[in-house]
Amino acid sequence: MKVGSVKEIKNNEFRVGMIPDNVKSYVNAGHQVYIEKGAGAGSGFTDEEYKAAGATLLDTAKEVWDTVEMMIKVKEPLPDEYPLFHEGLILYTYLHLAADQPQTDALLSSKVKGVAYETLMDRNGGLPLLAPMSQIAGRLSVQEGAKYLEKIYGGEGVLLAGVPGTPKANVVILGGGSVGTNACKIAVGMGANVTILDVNLQRLAYLDDIFGARIQTLASNDANIENSVKEADLVIGSVLIPGKAAPKLFKKKYLKEMRPGAVFVDVAVDQGGCGETTRVTYHDAPIYIVDGVVHYCVGNMPGAVPRTSTIALTNATLSYGLQIANKGLEQACRENETIYSAINTYDGKLTCKNVADSFEGYE
Ligand code: NAD
Repeated sequence: MKVGSVKEIKNNEFRVGMIPDNVKSYVNAGHQVYIEKGAGAGSGFTDEEYKAAGATLLDTAKEVWDTVEMMIKVKEPLPDEYPLFHEGLILYTYLHLAADQPQTDALLSSKVKGVAYETLMDRNGGLPLLAPMSQIAGRLSVQEGAKYLEKIYGGEGVLLAGVPGTPKANVVILGGGSVGTNACKIAVGMGANVTILDVNLQRLAYLDDIFGARIQTLASNDANIENSVKEADLVIGSVLIPGKAAPKLFKKKYLKEMRPGAVFVDVAVDQGGCGETTRVTYHDAPIYIVDGVVHYCVGNMPGAVPRTSTIALTNATLSYGLQIANKGLEQACRENETIYSAINTYDGKLTCKNVADSFEGYE
């Protein structure tokens, strides 16, 4: 099969769909790989590395789109890319169609086979192509929080780990799933006092087993949240109710009860955010201050570390991509229902129920 990747054109997006090592895997399996010149530069992969791995470098994105049978991307295509779709093309990428009717219409009218990373679900109900980005965002949330606690950004001027003879910082994590657990790991590693709240008591039991006496677990309810955030230096929002807007757990009235210069990192911002005062920010202006509390609410946090993010993402996408290339999409789905779960559009039809339910008049 002819497969390829182009440079991502979304604002401040530096990840790429395939790294040179992936190219080797496709070539070794008998496929031809086409890469737009400069596609990997933002993640630190040079054209020479792609060429040495066996890829054919093409000057423009259009040439790659026109050549390949499977396009391997990172972000959803943007309107400038819709005219490049062609019938039968397999588009393997994050699509997020439920929030994007124009893209859905473009994929349907051009009969593209849209295979979405975010809906690929394994037998245990896990989302293996989403998980690596949650791991990165969770780990980054503490790093970013630590930075914005610095005085020059409006923070309290507190070092997360403290030093002998000074208090450690208090980190409160709302939601103990993938993001929360990874945030917890880094915050504990940096020596902070960590409290983690979740509604799922089994999850809290798991976290208690893993981290033992180094963390405090609490059932998530208004009283426990309010009492915890009052003492917090850093609050991390990492709740998720799949498919729904995030619950507004972190209330505006808490801000005045908190320490001036405390930091709130709302990772759940991509689901609307779990703070009443959350609004989306971007990497070029990531913070704002409400009632003395510094808010960091960047919707694509992994974009800050594209090298790590690209490697983590492609570690997860490669094996499914190879199955599709080796067997063809249809046979790969027959043999592996996990891949079937990722198909959102096929031959002009919308094949993902959650997406169809998001729009009126689609079925
Ligand atoms: P997850 O499903 O692994 O974990 C969510 C946790 O929230 C679960 O343990 C759940 O029990 C808990 N929860 C639900 N309601 C709660 C409540 N009322 N109080 C406390 N806990 C509650 O999800 P995840 O992978 O950790 O993702 C969390 C959020 O981070 C999602 O919205 C995800 O889209 C987002 N995310 C954002 C970025 C970014 O760049 N901003 C990157 C990755 C993920």
